[in-house]
Amino acid sequence: MHYETLFQEIHRELQLIGEIGQVADYIPELAYVNPDQFGVHLTTVGGEEFAFGDAEKRFSIQSIAKVFTFVLAYSRVKSTIWERTGLEPAGTPFNSLIQLEYDKGIPRNPLINAGAIVICDILASELASPKENILSFIRRITGNQSIDYNSKVALSEKKTGYRNYALVNLMKSFGNIKNDIDKVMEIYFHICSIEMSCKELSQSFLFLANNGIVPYSGERILSVSRTKRVNALMQTCGFYDEAGEFTFKVGLPGKSGVGGGIVAVHPEKYAIAVWSPRLNKKGNSYKGMLFLEEFTTKTRSSIF
Ligand code: GLN
Repeated sequence: MHYETLFQEIHRELQLIGEIGQVADYIPELAYVNPDQFGVHLTTVGGEEFAFGDAEKRFSIQSIAKVFTFVLAYSRVKSTIWERTGLEPAGTPFNSLIQLEYDKGIPRNPLINAGAIVICDILASELASPKENILSFIRRITGNQSIDYNSKVALSEKKTGYRNYALVNLMKSFGNIKNDIDKVMEIYFHICSIEMSCKELSQSFLFLANNGIVPYSGERILSVSRTKRVNALMQTCGFYDEAGEFTFKVGLPGKSGVGGGIVAVHPEKYAIAVWSPRLNKKGNSYKGMLFLEEFTTKTRSSIF
């Protein structure tokens, strides 16, 4: 399959619809990004790579990092994780407080902000140096030692993170945060600030397409059963209140971030990452979603 020609073709089609959507400016540092960049990278489990556009340019991965931290926690604390977070779709925006009060401080799932903050709390208890340990985990599964936090972005989020502080305080009041709030939020804001390219993202997610094993190193990250479950969570919860729409149109498990990135996985076949910073009203990449919709339709590679 000549994916590169197809990437060009779909990109050309998307140019016709013009530039719709806005970059995330509620995090001031993200507002400086050139909104018209576009990249895509696909890596197959067999090691083939296909790229188009700004595929090697790093950007803020934001909520995509929630998959990495969840996987790391899940691989260490096993099933007790489900005492601290649910596994149902939220149906509300990523930073919503409404459901959390009803559910007595137990987030609906680990891929919304509240859930990811609980996971950071678990990692704060589990790991000796959480920030360093999380980063080395991501570097290891990507096979790239230069991946790093952007401290300017982390600080920008901290200064304006009123809703995230509201979430962590509410959960602390229900006893679902064990560590000091500042320690937990330091981890949360940093994981959101990690910068990776589409190439690196597609490589780092490949173990989820490969039954839990990193293809380059042979390292097992998760069991086959847990890998299936992570993919199921991404399918039902990876796009907040647009998870149904993504499933309907694209039909792959995936995760988005407000930096404009989306990663999606086809079990046994490939991982693909797309980046286009303009977001739709739900905080997901406008063109990224359209691109993947066209891609899975044209290649008949939706899982449905
Ligand atoms: N850092 C962002 C926040 O906490 C992550 C949100 C996202 O990417 N959807 O608001």
